[in-house]
Amino acid sequence: VRRPLIAGNWKMNGLKAEGQGLARDLAQRLNKAGGVDFDLLLCPPFPLISTVVGAVAGSGIAVGGQDCHAKAKGAHTGDVSAPMLADLGCQFVIVGHSERRADHGETDALVKAKAEAALAAGLIAVICVGETEAQRDAGETLAVVSGQLAGSLPTHADSGKVVIAYEPVWAIGTGRVPTTEDVAKVHGALRKDLVGALGADGNGVRLLYGGSVKPDNAAELMALENVDGALVGGASLKAEDFWAIAQSC
Ligand code: 13P
Repeated sequence: VRRPLIAGNWKMNGLKAEGQGLARDLAQRLNKAGGVDFDLLLCPPFPLISTVVGAVAGSGIAVGGQDCHAKAKGAHTGDVSAPMLADLGCQFVIVGHSERRADHGETDALVKAKAEAALAAGLIAVICVGETEAQRDAGETLAVVSGQLAGSLPTHADSGKVVIAYEPVWAIGTGRVPTTEDVAKVHGALRKDLVGALGADGNGVRLLYGGSVKPDNAAELMALENVDGALVGGASLKAEDFWAIAQSC
């Protein structure tokens, strides 16, 4: 059984007070709810990680980075390494988000190296894949995401160390969401690829959907067989919305 994971990717949003308030609010909601059957993950921008780790301490909410360098240390001005994230109290790191692939020219090979660096530091890598609108229109969706997965998956991956997020680029921040049939098709294909790569353990890897997940569309997406949670951008910046999405798992 795969325990759903609801991850908030705050992207480049929030100053200290907002981040702390949001994290505290969610920690309180989780505390009040008692036992829940999902995991929560917050991925704030680097400068807010310590603040958020402090705000969620003892709540069971996990914290992750939004990216890491492929090397553990060295002359890489402006970069942050996986051991640094682990040292701050992170348990996860997102790698290969489409905004990194687009804004920073990240390739599958680099994403794989980053994911391997994450694993080496004891972090769980949330590896993102997803097609552009042009690729979708050309009927290339399955080929693109399978290729990205094959190229980005660490050599020693297992279901406890990696999470895969399918985020169609055209659905990010647009309010547009693929049909549940299309999401089911892509997640089914990714599951097959994971079992091909990892054997039966591939069935244990959590597969998240991301791209305009909101309180009013989360339930039907989360009900799909191979959707094991969500990677939420915009709606993760409001405690009420993020909490509502989590509860629809
Ligand atoms: P939105 O939820 O804002 O569409 O962003 C999705 C995303 O990119 C999460 O990583």
